[in-house]
Amino acid sequence: MSHLRVDAIACDGHGLCADLLPELVDLDEWGYPIVTGPVPRRLRRAAAAAVAACPALALRLTEPPR
Ligand code: SF4
Repeated sequence: MSHLRVDAIACDGHGLCADLLPELVDLDEWGYPIVTGPVPRRLRRAAAAAVAACPALALRLTEPPR
């Protein structure tokens, strides 16, 4: 199962990813994202859209090693 990873250095904390993917992303008290778990198949497309929409290029999807 893939995972959504946040580059905490690059992230600017405006929370767009939490708006686009509330099933998987919460925000901390400063507005920075906390990813709550692996990406289920049904959310794979939405997660990819959140990666593409991140204005800071701070999100990526990782796949487990085969
Ligand atoms: S969309 Fe990108 S820059 Fe914005 S909070 Fe999410 S990871 Fe950070």
